[in-house]
Amino acid sequence: MVNDDDNTSVKVALRIRPQNAREKAQQCRICTSVTPGEPQVTIGSDKSFTFDFVFDQPTAQNTIYEAIAEKLVEGTFDGYNATVLAYGQTGSGKTYTMGTAYDAAGTLPEFDLGIIPRAAQHIFNGIMERKLRAKEQGRVEPIFDISVQFVELYNEDIIDLLSEDRNTQANIKIGENVEKGEIYLKGVHSQTVKSPLDILNVLKNGALNRTTAATNMNQQSSRSHAIFTISMKQQRMAPIDIPTSAENGVSESAPTTPTESELEVLTAKFHFVDLAGSERLKRTGATGDRAKEGISINCGLLALGNVISALGGAQGKVSHVPYRDSKLTRLLQDSLGGNSRTLMIACASPSDVDFVETLNTLNYANRAK
Ligand code: ADP
Ligand code: MG
Repeated sequence: MVNDDDNTSVKVALRIRPQNAREKAQQCRICTSVTPGEPQVTIGSDKSFTFDFVFDQPTAQNTIYEAIAEKLVEGTFDGYNATVLAYGQTGSGKTYTMGTAYDAAGTLPEFDLGIIPRAAQHIFNGIMERKLRAKEQGRVEPIFDISVQFVELYNEDIIDLLSEDRNTQANIKIGENVEKGEIYLKGVHSQTVKSPLDILNVLKNGALNRTTAATNMNQQSSRSHAIFTISMKQQRMAPIDIPTSAENGVSESAPTTPTESELEVLTAKFHFVDLAGSERLKRTGATGDRAKEGISINCGLLALGNVISALGGAQGKVSHVPYRDSKLTRLLQDSLGGNSRTLMIACASPSDVDFVETLNTLNYANRAK
């Protein structure tokens, strides 16, 4: 399989959130400006960055989904793995964009739904459409198995957010099926789901289990990476093309006729990653345990930056991709690079009080291009 869109499997988007009530009350100035009609942002007076996509403050959730995520979700039906990562400082809109905290505090209006609930809906609509089409055409209906996992990475421990048993929650190890080139989590709970609502219920239960600790910056600050994974197994009858015998021995351009069908099994994984806050330790006033967390969070984010940069850097030929430098990159190994599609969404505040953090985020995202 080859990527059909273009030759880069890593794309980078920037999303600038609107100013919040506090920033407005404090009359914070806006320090980011998006060039009209261009995926370009300027911070301060003269530092400009260009990404694959730039979304300014008023961009709605459905616009984001349709512009950057929909195609990747569609790709899972053809067996492509995908990873969407939200990067940025605490409070920059990662969880809102990803939709990881769905319904944690009540029912969200449709308008505010993030990428995960939209993807859930899309997947089950796609399944229904494919079954219906097969039925109409008198073909055998495809069979789909959808399952989800939800883990968080906290201080290099992998915690199963769907496990009821607190004792085994932190005991998850990463395994690799070298033959298939697959990474899997040993002992993690995999929940079969039959509807978008099933997915949202799992998301909700898991999100409530997430480790959160207060820092000076944000009471709800999440100091861990949350990884929500949807796996799809599809069994379908695929036509086999048998070339018609060429009369004069030139078979290269011979027409083919689909004559028979064979059972084809396609699997794909979609990781939705709500990364830990990227802010520097000094600003959050972290000491002790909080500081230790900061070090391992930064180690994962640093390794991720290195992996994505290695994948995007050398056109096609990648010499060494340092997946093994952190649990985060190891866990995502089979879904970053190769035939997988990766989308990094850098989330940023528009306000001048966050200038330094936003500049850091832009520099990080720029490396990932
Ligand atoms: P993070 O996960 O990066 O810490 P959140 O996603 O929790 O940040 O966002 C912080 C706050 O800002 C939340 O109350 C969220 O609802 C709000 N918010 C973030 N992005 C947007 C946006 N694009 N539009 C409206 N509200 C947003
Ligand atoms: Mg968050």
